[in-house]
Amino acid sequence: EKGKPLMLNPRTNKGMAFSLQERQILGIHGLLPPKVETQDIQAMRFQKNLKKMTDPLQKYIYLMGIQERNERLFYRVLMEDIDELMPIVYTPTVGLACTQYGHIFRRPKGLFISIRDRGHIRSILDNWPETNVAAVVVTDGERILGLGDLGVYGMGIPVGKLCLYTACAGIRPEKCLPVVIDVGTDNETLLEDPLYMGLYQKRDRSQAYDDLIDEFMEAVVDKYGQDTLIQFEDFGNHNAFRFLRKYREKYCTFNDDIQGTASVALAGLLAAQRVVGKPITEHRVLFLGAGEAALGIANLIVMAMMETGMTQDEARKKIWMFDKYGLIAKGRQQETDGNQEAFLHDSPGNIQSFLDAVNTIKPTAIIGVAGAGPLFTHDVIKAMGNLNERPIIFALSNPTNKAECTAEDAYTLTDGRCLFASGSPFGPVTLSDGRVFTPGQGNNAYIFPGVALAVILSGVRHISDTVFLEAAKTLAEQLTDKELEEGRLYPPLSNIREVSVQMAVKVMEYVYAKGMAFRYPEPVDKNNFIRATVWNTSYDSFLPDTYDWPDVSFMPK
Ligand code: NAP
Ligand code: MN
Repeated sequence: EKGKPLMLNPRTNKGMAFSLQERQILGIHGLLPPKVETQDIQAMRFQKNLKKMTDPLQKYIYLMGIQERNERLFYRVLMEDIDELMPIVYTPTVGLACTQYGHIFRRPKGLFISIRDRGHIRSILDNWPETNVAAVVVTDGERILGLGDLGVYGMGIPVGKLCLYTACAGIRPEKCLPVVIDVGTDNETLLEDPLYMGLYQKRDRSQAYDDLIDEFMEAVVDKYGQDTLIQFEDFGNHNAFRFLRKYREKYCTFNDDIQGTASVALAGLLAAQRVVGKPITEHRVLFLGAGEAALGIANLIVMAMMETGMTQDEARKKIWMFDKYGLIAKGRQQETDGNQEAFLHDSPGNIQSFLDAVNTIKPTAIIGVAGAGPLFTHDVIKAMGNLNERPIIFALSNPTNKAECTAEDAYTLTDGRCLFASGSPFGPVTLSDGRVFTPGQGNNAYIFPGVALAVILSGVRHISDTVFLEAAKTLAEQLTDKELEEGRLYPPLSNIREVSVQMAVKVMEYVYAKGMAFRYPEPVDKNNFIRATVWNTSYDSFLPDTYDWPDVSFMPK
């Protein structure tokens, strides 16, 4: 590419950072103001403007605008202020952006595949301009955060997740493909909205849907190779479990809501263990919610307990779940699904409320993943404080208004004794006695970028749950004692790039040691290898490689 098209392509555009020579050679001289700028100055301009904005959605639109014009600058700005800007490109603001997508729409991002395209997915993939995709994040929009069915507007989620692939783990943006599969939506508001952008039909739940996803998986590996990483994101519960089971041995795939969430929550428990000194096997965990996240976390906790010698049955007995209908226990009227069976215990008596469940089961940890709002009431939090010296309270539902409780409630109602984490960020909390607590963000963003980086660089073919167990351990290990003292259960977000890189190193060592890696030769020094491979935001030069030949004469002798 040369000339104006090169400037209009966000992947190649450098804006005023094109040097004078580049401008002349590329035929764009005069199309830019005379000044040649450094990326530092360019970043400063955007940072200043962002600081002036107060509305998060406005910031989202502005940031996405930079991504549409100058990709490297976008990542530079995002990475430099990741703790401020992650809540914009990711939870909670991305949730708002998804609901408002049809109204704030500027330019399309990602690939849209609808159920009307059956039989033609490969030719749609061929329209995607990049030929070297390594990672796909796909959603069908049915369970976007805790916001429910947002149909095709769910696209905000794969786009946001892949931004974190690049910002947090240095995976090259051109290797990332966000996809939304449109099979309709059951969201009546969207179906009545003239600005909606997907198919105006109810969700197709027939065999055609399964066939479509099958075709999609085949088309992706056909085009990009068998080891293409395919991350499932925000699918409805039933489909999430089904597809994970169906595809995990056949493709390089994982479900972030089940497995990524499991890993980050377990890491939080392992970090808490460093504070409390109580081994994981001595915990009793009560979940609010019994879906993808709850079951994923529960099963990984069981794996972690079994590693210390406990039997599976013993470990499962340590875990209880409370869903929409109440405590999941044998003999209750409402059905439980097959995935929940492992955690179906004898009923401990008549339990009317979550508070009853807390007081009866006496958990050491409660984990909220119901997506149903602030159900960790003051009474629940106080009960946890009465039962435990250091109660563990995780309010993991997203976005912020779906969290089970606020950080402030958790710390104040337990006199600062609780170990708290939330899925969406909360600021530090100051108690009346002046003590300050910095809540951790128990979000799978700590897991999927690092795991994805390791998987891509190692040529892993199937991602086993042990990989997520390993990731959880490395995350918990990375927390310093000082950070633990501040009340953190996760390293500061500002450090997430380093955290992800170190996780990738550990996971890479693990998959090679276990024979799960297929990229040869195996890099000897994985740390150096990863650091040398990750993408950074410095601009490439467009100057041709010019040089002189030593004095030679082409005159015949
Ligand atoms: P899911 O599979 O749909 O599960 C939701 C579960 O909560 C179901 O068991 C549901 O019961 C139950 N539930 C719904 N309303 C309830 C209520 N009022 N009281 C008690 N239980 C209730 O969804 P998911 O994938 O697990 O996600 C749930 C939440 O976790 C979402 O808000 C999501 O944003 C959050 N999440 C956070 C992270 C993170 O990294 N922090 C990662 C993934 C998900 P029924 O089946 O009976 O309706
Ligand atoms: Mn998700």
